[in-house]
Amino acid sequence: MILAVTLNPSVDIAYSIAHFALDDVNRTKEVSKTAGGKGLNVARVIHLLGKNVLATGIVGGELGGFMERQLSNDGIAHEFLQTDQPSRNCIAILHDDGKQTEILEAGPTLGGQEAQQFLQHFKHQVEQVSVVTISGSLPLGLPINFYCQLLAIAAEKQVKVLLDCSGPALEATLKSKYKPYLIKPNLSELSQIVEKNLNGDIQELKAVLKDERFTGIACMVISMGAQGAFVKYHDAFYQVEIPKIEVVNPVGSGDATVAGLAVAISEGKTIEAILATAMTTGMLNTMEAQTGYISITHFDAYYQQVKVTKI
Ligand code: ADP
Repeated sequence: MILAVTLNPSVDIAYSIAHFALDDVNRTKEVSKTAGGKGLNVARVIHLLGKNVLATGIVGGELGGFMERQLSNDGIAHEFLQTDQPSRNCIAILHDDGKQTEILEAGPTLGGQEAQQFLQHFKHQVEQVSVVTISGSLPLGLPINFYCQLLAIAAEKQVKVLLDCSGPALEATLKSKYKPYLIKPNLSELSQIVEKNLNGDIQELKAVLKDERFTGIACMVISMGAQGAFVKYHDAFYQVEIPKIEVVNPVGSGDATVAGLAVAISEGKTIEAILATAMTTGMLNTMEAQTGYISITHFDAYYQQVKVTKI
């Protein structure tokens, strides 16, 4: 089983409002409300791939209950720590030119007691799984090294952790004693970490990924949207090329990629197969209107078109 962690999940609301009027009343009949947050997208895609997944994190209030019911309706197992503070909403107002305005609530501010309770909760869950994914931002109130504490627990049980986060929480794990097995920054997130504007040049990426700050991380997948990915796996480098496809909605592709990585790693596949699976799930996500959703009907056809080259 794979454990998918989302510490700050949200009920994502999308309102379609063709011409949004500031300082005025906007009405819409087109509303969608879904259990969201990066790790829940990961859990959904793992489930759609037909694999066992347990969704975890911290939820509270009516919105927490809504998320749990939605996951149950989708047949996704979940075991969240409950907090007495309500979970958050994230609102996207979709305009007719393909652009969107987002309002993101910060979510609950957690205390030391909840932090300790989640560590216990996680310790128990890690015993039942082979791979853990950790996605997204930390809730307010948790220490910046909280993911490092989860990494230490996973290391004790020799469980591989795939970490998909950015900013100070990621930087803290790079300095931690226990490293994630895999990180998946996109090019702009990697640029932020190394404080250099990277454009995808292979020689430059090779040099950057050899930096000692990444020592101890077995696999680094730098996802590059339509350009596929560049990967460092132990001491080897791989370029992953993907076919040109018709994109409907690219949001959540990184999460679908993490889901593909987790599934193939949990199955003990070769690095080539792991990367081809991840690129395929990323591509399949871009072909759907729903964020963090894939249809597996054409999985094999796209998988065959991914080219993984050791360079
Ligand atoms: P993130 O969502 O984290 O920014 P990316 O945009 O790099 O991640 O997308 C992750 C993966 O999804 C890519 O490596 C690729 O496989 C697929 N993907 C994303 N955007 C596109 C696109 N425009 N065309 C084809 N595949 C895409």
